[in-house]
Amino acid sequence: MTGISAIERARRLTTQLAAAPQHLLIDGRRQPALSGKTFETLNPATGETLARVAEANPADVDFAVAAARRAFENRAWRQMSANDRANLLLRLADLIEKEADDLAVLECLNNGKPAHLTRLVEVEGSIKTFRYFAGWPTKFGGETLPVSPRGGAQILNYTTREPVGVAGLIVPWNYPLSMAAWKVAPALAAGCAVVLKPAEQTPLTALRLGELALEAGFPPGVLNVVTGFGEAGAALVAHPGVDKIAFTGSTEVGKLIVKASAGNLKKVSLELGGKSPHIVFPDADLDAAAAAVGSGIFFNQGQTCTAGSRLYAHADCFDRVVEAVTAAARKLKVGDGLLPTSDLGPLVSQEQWDRVSGYVDIGRREGARVLTGGGRPAGLERGFFFEPTVFVDATAPMRIVREEIFGPVLTALPWKDVDDLVAVANDSEYGLSAGIWTNNLKQAHRAAAALKAGTVWINCYNLIDPASPFGGYKQSGWGREHGRQAMELYSEIKSVWVSLS
Ligand code: NAD
Repeated sequence: MTGISAIERARRLTTQLAAAPQHLLIDGRRQPALSGKTFETLNPATGETLARVAEANPADVDFAVAAARRAFENRAWRQMSANDRANLLLRLADLIEKEADDLAVLECLNNGKPAHLTRLVEVEGSIKTFRYFAGWPTKFGGETLPVSPRGGAQILNYTTREPVGVAGLIVPWNYPLSMAAWKVAPALAAGCAVVLKPAEQTPLTALRLGELALEAGFPPGVLNVVTGFGEAGAALVAHPGVDKIAFTGSTEVGKLIVKASAGNLKKVSLELGGKSPHIVFPDADLDAAAAAVGSGIFFNQGQTCTAGSRLYAHADCFDRVVEAVTAAARKLKVGDGLLPTSDLGPLVSQEQWDRVSGYVDIGRREGARVLTGGGRPAGLERGFFFEPTVFVDATAPMRIVREEIFGPVLTALPWKDVDDLVAVANDSEYGLSAGIWTNNLKQAHRAAAALKAGTVWINCYNLIDPASPFGGYKQSGWGREHGRQAMELYSEIKSVWVSLS
């Protein structure tokens, strides 16, 4: 954090936020919800109200979709050159960078995660995402294809790429700014106009992103932000004026979206839940593996879709790895995210705290044993803080092994036979990611090929880059974000046939 401290910055931002409700951003203007309704968004470190935010209902969504449609059809955006679109994305990245410290603290205040991490992950990550996708408009084109001549006539066949239209982007609270950037950047790079619906728990950085996009020079209506609850998200999904929905969130809501989007058969991409296996072979660098297993589950308080929540360590190294992870968990400092000493902040909400705590109770009742953690850390009586927690003595059918907890809870299981290991690792309704630790190259590649997961990390964990596709097998989602694949999500391909006779 440069210049003034996170605490002073937080004081200034909190005062500003308390002064007036946060309006929707539609057609380039901040405006209250049509109903005049607002809801409270909280600081999870204190449980206190941070801001009042406009609560969009379906009428506001209508309004935002109409603005996006007008912007999409308007020549200012529709006919903007690829080069100019790229420059706008670069300018937006520069503006985020200029405001990096404030955005990092704003995210910390609203989501809870430590400000030094929001700076690194949310803010630096978003800048990188916008800069990466700024490279695509000038490179994302069609091709000419070698089709056969017809009736003696030569035929020219080529493809073009066109933006899919108005995109509804619905994001969760666990990485609020990054998840918005992952969708907004490729959607705008492809030439779509968007309506962004942030999670009700964490709407603040998305609203600021919308303002910065206007400042960067995106035409009004190209990026609209509607804040509110599932009702607003559902209205966007069902809206006949929306051509595409990109959603990150729970598998349960993902299924509702698939059903609700059927009216106009809009395109849908989904990034959903996970229960990722983190696998340690006995020949691995066990210290490095244990460190990665710890950060793989405890980072972001375990509220990460790729959290390595199932540790499978070989029986020969199980005790050593579990001891090291447990010792590391005990050393982690849980505290207010504004303090530079905090490794973990609070969970995002009381609801999330109850959910995580409920799973710890379920694990105990089912016969698993807590080695460390399991509840509220001593000395943190208010806010939604939860200790890093490690379970052992678990078995495959237990709910803590099968269900996504979305909190700092690791379940450690030993294995002996590699074929059995692959079978249990794959025995999940999810297939988002997996980690493998071994120094045997063949073994690593064999396991990577056998695991049903959209991302496999070998001797590393949670590496993510806008250049590399990200998404899940099975009930972890549809489609891939990042890379060329993300540009494809937001575009249509047109095949043009020309008779040259
Ligand atoms: P959620 O599904 O409850 O909410 C996500 C978003 O959907 C919010 O903006 C919410 O307002 C909106 N929403 C709720 N009901 C809706 C409906 N019927 N129609 C349309 N929109 C609706 O999820 P959450 O609790 O915010 O996030 C946690 C979950 O998200 C976890 O299960 C986690 O694994 C998953 N997640 C997945 C990824 C990934 O990349 N795969 C990333 C982050 C989070």
